[in-house]
Amino acid sequence: EAKAAGRGTYCLFESQMDETARERTVMERELREALAYGRFELHYQPLVDLDKNRIKGVEALVRWRHPERGLISPGVFIPLAEETGLIVPLGDWVLNQACRDAATLPDDISVAVNVSALQLRNRNFAQGVLMALAASGLKATRLELEITESVLLDDTESNLETLHTLRRLGVRISMDDFGTGYSSISYLRRFPFDKIKIDRSFVRDSVGRSDAGAIIRAIVGLGTSLGITTLVEGVETEAQLATVRAEGAQEIQGYLFSPPRPLNEISEMLYLAKTRSAA
Ligand code: C2E
Ligand code: MG
Ligand code: MG
Ligand code: MG
Repeated sequence: EAKAAGRGTYCLFESQMDETARERTVMERELREALAYGRFELHYQPLVDLDKNRIKGVEALVRWRHPERGLISPGVFIPLAEETGLIVPLGDWVLNQACRDAATLPDDISVAVNVSALQLRNRNFAQGVLMALAASGLKATRLELEITESVLLDDTESNLETLHTLRRLGVRISMDDFGTGYSSISYLRRFPFDKIKIDRSFVRDSVGRSDAGAIIRAIVGLGTSLGITTLVEGVETEAQLATVRAEGAQEIQGYLFSPPRPLNEISEMLYLAKTRSAA
């Protein structure tokens, strides 16, 4: 009967595996369809300069408009897009759409685009960025590319070369989710970053806890001495904003100021901010 139990367990496990594999296969097929039928959209979240109290730029965040499931967040499909390589065409669409959208915004507003490891590793990545800029008419200095530490773990020489090429063109490079990977500090020396985005886990725990505040302060200090701008992600409350200000970060991003919104709402926000400051 030990054998029977073993087989029963095996069957249960196998059917769960089947189920997961089936769901993956379905989602992969649907992702391909979504790309072909243009079912992705970009929302934009403001990046706010704390000193001038104004929006400096926006981050493009992709969503999937699923015919039955509604709007799906990137956390659900980006990992599968990365595993299947679909992130390369999807990322290319995001880059081009974000540049076109940004070209319709005031010219002192920049756009930040998330870039996956697989995209950066592609030999033609810098060329693709140039083409997106040329096609949209967006100036290179208005484009920021956000990469995470995971990008830097492999194939560093050619990644480094690509990043240097892009920077020579005027494109800026941000390190996203700083503090969640490892060896962060050595990467800051090795790679040409213009901005550090401090992961929101640090601000989440910062209020009333001097250690998290101290970490933000230390990263801001490091950034300042290296000539790198620091932004704190995920600011949701006034108390967190006060902490971030006290620790000296230059920029914030978070629900307190605005969640990601469709382009037309962002345009309106920027227009209202402009008329208000002109009045
Ligand atoms: P990320 O690049 O770190 O983007 C910031 C995420 O934090 C966004 O989630 C944003 O909605 C969320 N966020 C912003 N402020 C707050 C806040 O105050 N509180 C909380 N709880 N969350 C906040 P979203 O849009 O779900 O995107 C998740 C991740 O998916 C992104 O993290 C990025 O890693 C990835 N992603 C999104 N769009 C793209 C894309 O076009 N390409 C690639 N490769 N990755 C993308
Ligand atoms: Mg990002
Ligand atoms: Mg981030
Ligand atoms: Mg993040």
